[in-house]
Amino acid sequence: MAVIKNLIAPFQKVLINKRLCPGCTMPLDKAKKFPYNPESEMTICQCRRMYIYDRSSDSYRRATLKEAEMFSKK
Ligand SMILES: [Zn+2]
Repeated sequence: MAVIKNLIAPFQKVLINKRLCPGCTMPLDKAKKFPYNPESEMTICQCRRMYIYDRSSDSYRRATLKEAEMFSKK
């Protein structure tokens, strides 16, 4: 199983770099965005996966569990 995990992680990164959700391949530019902090926006996909959109680098990354928790507490 470790081999499969090692293959999936880079593949997910490729999809995020292409601005697509790795879970459902929806374009993240179409996902709902909510203000998170001055530099970034919380992006929530239709499949409920959460991403952080970074304005300065104009890129997406997966939200960490802590970031997701902090966002839902607001
Ligand atoms: Zn998705």
